[in-house]
This record gives sequence, C-alpha cells and structure tokens, in this order.
Amino acid sequence: MPTFGGDRQDKEDVGRMEFLLTLRRRGISDKAVLRAMDEVPRGDFVDGEFAGMAYADQALPISCGQTISQPYVVAYMTEQLALKPNHRVLEIGAGSGYQAAVLSRLVRAVVTIERYRTLADQARERLTAHGYNNVEVLVGDGFAGSPERAPFDRIIVTAAAETTPQALLDQLVEEGILLIPLGPQGGTQHIVKHTKTKTGVIRETLIAVRFVPLVPGQAQEL
Ligand code: SAH
Repeated sequence: MPTFGGDRQDKEDVGRMEFLLTLRRRGISDKAVLRAMDEVPRGDFVDGEFAGMAYADQALPISCGQTISQPYVVAYMTEQLALKPNHRVLEIGAGSGYQAAVLSRLVRAVVTIERYRTLADQARERLTAHGYNNVEVLVGDGFAGSPERAPFDRIIVTAAAETTPQALLDQLVEEGILLIPLGPQGGTQHIVKHTKTKTGVIRETLIAVRFVPLVPGQAQEL
C-alpha cells in the first residue's frame, strides 16, 4: 500500500536501526549502554540543519564553534566508565547535552559543566524537555571541576587537554575512574583512563580520538 508523507520518518527509523548496528559492529557490547544509546534521540541534540545526519556515526557542529561527539566515541567512553546505577558522574564539556543525556539513563545523578552559557542554557532546556531531570548543567571552568559537589564516582572530560587536571583527580572517589582525551591540540589524542587506588593512580591509554580543546576559564563571549 502506498504511504504518503511517511518518507522522512521511515528514513529516520532506518537511520536509527543502522546507528545501533554500527555501534555493535564496532565493538560496543554493554547492553545497558546500547539501550541508553537507543533511548536518547540524538536528532534532538543537533541543530535543525544537521537533523538528517544525526544518526550517522560522525561528530557534527553545534553552536559556539563546538561539536557534538561521534556516537561511537560517546558509547565507547560510556562503556569504559563501567557505570553503576548508584553512581554520581561529573562531565566536563556539556556541549549539546547529548553525552549527559546518555549518562543520565545509567546513573543516579550527572553534573555537567560548560564554559559557554549559550550551550549550557540550550543543553539544560533540551534535557528538561526530555524529562532527564537527574542532570545539573553548570556554567563554569571545567578545569576546576565542582568542589562543592565532589566527590564523584566517575568523571568524563569531553574536550582534549595536554595533561590531566589535578583538581579533577582530587574530586574522584577511591576506586573511581576518570576518562580524558589527552594529546597535542590539532593532533591525535588518546582517551586516557585513570583509576584511583589507595596507592596511586593507574593510567591506561585507550583509543585514538579527535576532540575540540579544553580551554581554561569561563567563556567571555556568550
Ligand atoms: N559532550 C558534548 C560534546 C562537547 S564538545 C556533547 O555531548 O555534545 C566539548 C565542549 O567542552 C564544548 O562545548 C566546549 O565549549 C567545552 N569546554 C571546553 N573547555 C571547557 C572548560 N574549561 N570548561 C567547561 N567546558 C569546556
């Protein structure tokens, strides 16, 4: 039977099915993570003009010259955090709010910090509209973390730095995990996993990635 006007929806449905298949094919196997990636509509976190590309496995531009991360990298980092439902997570670099939305499906509470007020306001609005009400979006400098709300079970930094900010390691519980892309700006960075133990911090280098830079200070522009 011919259908009229359903083309766009059909395309989006196919896109969303392929989206999950791509994540599985690339090695994401944690069922809770796949479910969260399935539940959060990435299309609602990108600007209208990019809606048609929302379910492709690529980073896309957002306001303030920033990017929403590639879905595979969002899923990969989320899986590497080894989240438990009772965890409190700190994210640095709220951007579109998409990574925070995915985290919010898996843990008790998420605090996310963004240096651009425009992005923070937009992310907060989107998260509220979806009923993801266990996320707090703050405007500020992620290098400082959030000492008032520390300690956190997990910390995820979604912008690249050259070294790991000590303030963030200090805000992690014992046995906590911190993930951050480290490497030269404009060059190849690697996700580095830090696990805090009684006797020190264990570091493991994971996959190669490309993130926008972690920039010190709250943005003076909006
Ligand atoms: N997690 C985001 C992607 C973020 S891109 C998402 O899911 O859409 C990286 C973000 O980090 C940008 O929005 C950038 O403005 C922000 N950022 C860079 N340096 C920062 C800092 N020092 N403190 C807080 N946010 C920062």
